[in-house]
Amino acid sequence: MKTDFNINNLVRENIKSLQPYSSARDEYKDATSKDMIFLDANENPFENGVNRYPDPRQNKVKDLLSDIKTIPKELILLGNGSDEVLDLIFRAFCEPNKDNIITLPPTYGMYSVLANINAIENRKVLLNTDFEPNVDEILAAADNNSKILFLCSPNNPTGNSFSNGAVEKLIKEFNGLVVIDEAYIDFSTQKSWLEKLQKFSNLIITQTLSKAYGLAGIRLGVCYASKEIINILNNIKPPYNVNELTQQRAITRLQRLNEVKNEIAQLISERKRLKKELECCVSYIEKVYPSDGNFLLLKVDDANKRYKQLIDYGVVIRNRTTQPLCENCLRISVGVCEENQRLIRALKEIQ
Ligand SMILES: *Cc1c(COP(=O)(O)O)cnc(C)c1O
Repeated sequence: MKTDFNINNLVRENIKSLQPYSSARDEYKDATSKDMIFLDANENPFENGVNRYPDPRQNKVKDLLSDIKTIPKELILLGNGSDEVLDLIFRAFCEPNKDNIITLPPTYGMYSVLANINAIENRKVLLNTDFEPNVDEILAAADNNSKILFLCSPNNPTGNSFSNGAVEKLIKEFNGLVVIDEAYIDFSTQKSWLEKLQKFSNLIITQTLSKAYGLAGIRLGVCYASKEIINILNNIKPPYNVNELTQQRAITRLQRLNEVKNEIAQLISERKRLKKELECCVSYIEKVYPSDGNFLLLKVDDANKRYKQLIDYGVVIRNRTTQPLCENCLRISVGVCEENQRLIRALKEIQ
């Protein structure tokens, strides 16, 4: 455990001294219970459900998440998708043209895109051939300007969760922030790192409503971290970054967790069925990797050829062959039963 960890050593100077935007209404948060009228924000006063600015702190959504995850509300920040959350983390901690981040390819493409946008060097340390982090190489690649280490677990596109030992060692020994991207955690047999959040002051966990919760269209990403880190991110986020319609749909969905759980169970069962079928019955599939996500990574004889053949059958999947360690690999999202049947039929017919 880092005894000398101080978040102020990692924050950019301009962010430390930032005066955040504040709206007059922030000061009268509880006013809805009193008899007050709001003539402060130049809104159109004719009510239509969305004529008012949304709650900038998304209190109702956070109350639900806090209950579901048993995490105090002050440790939660919401964004316009995980993509915004990740961008806020870059902007708070990484000084352009000076700092660097560490990523572990093959992995989610947004870390590298965000590094480029923010003019931050991306030090890439490949996963090993079991798709596990090379812990010693990662630690050796880090220097005083290495601000963030991104661990995507379960990892996209490989589908595996990283071993607990490797992750814990990295959290303990990396001298910056460790972001664990848990976009696929609900499909995993592994436990979320949320349980350990309050044990590690340099840990940030991101999740999303885009995958298991079935709400990719509303754009809602979730960040869990220490109060200190959440305060910093709150200071720099656009005040109304999560719109009213998104908050409403998220609340409705989070109040119907049984539906979500039922869909997750179906997808996991379809994933197992699909994996078996592809392993036994399609000759040019050399390997189907184990998956803790709602997708499968396969190695085939010729990924470019098979990808094009599937397109001719009207089946769009993701060709990952250009990614390191993923030569001739295809990534397939698990669909509903009928979609998976159509995929299997197409895979069997093309030769
Ligand atoms: C899909 C995905 C996300 C989700 O991003 P959103 O912006 O929340 O939709 C995040 N991380 C990984 C690794 C993903 O695959």
